[in-house]
Amino acid sequence: MSSKLLVSDFDGTMTRREFYRLAIDQLIPRDCLDHWKDYREGRTTHFDALNRYFQSIRATEQQVWDLLAKMELEPRLAELVKSLETAGWRVVIASAGSAWYIERLLNQAGVALEIHANPGSFDPATGLKMRLPTESPYFSREIGIDKAAVVRAGLRRGSVVAFAGDGFPDADAARLVPDDLRFARGDLASLLIAEGLPFRTFRRWSEVAECLLSD
Ligand SMILES: [Mg+2]
Repeated sequence: MSSKLLVSDFDGTMTRREFYRLAIDQLIPRDCLDHWKDYREGRTTHFDALNRYFQSIRATEQQVWDLLAKMELEPRLAELVKSLETAGWRVVIASAGSAWYIERLLNQAGVALEIHANPGSFDPATGLKMRLPTESPYFSREIGIDKAAVVRAGLRRGSVVAFAGDGFPDADAARLVPDDLRFARGDLASLLIAEGLPFRTFRRWSEVAECLLSD
């Protein structure tokens, strides 16, 4: 069994752009309510806010496929995951988004990874509907998957654990790993700077993989 584990966020980390941002820009009616405001002000959970946006999507399956392409999944993902596995690193995805689009992108890239995310189904009339993964050992009512719990499980097994992410829901998980195995960009990087926690930054996921491969 592998003793090294890379827990990676998906949207904005393994991809250049986030599904929800692209969806809000392109597939959700302009008059959509500000669900993030409700989340920030404590009236709803992160999961519910995201799910309301996803269910506001009005698009054909083809339009959603086009949107997935615009996320720009790391183009070298298959090759890098293989190299990481050879070097003893197991890669798992921990996402507050939906396994529905993560699985599609990974399948298209020919990559099989363990995914911890919210299951979902798509219908042009009702958008992308997520459900809480209550069966997951890492279930969180707030965001669906407790990313810190995924990291903690690895640490408990005695693995060396690295984490890569770009958003606020990544913060608890990022705090748990050693400084030189903490990879951050975007909002997560800003938050870690404010906390004075060291990290390695990256622009593309390939930089995270290459860093681990060169250590
Ligand atoms: Mg992200």
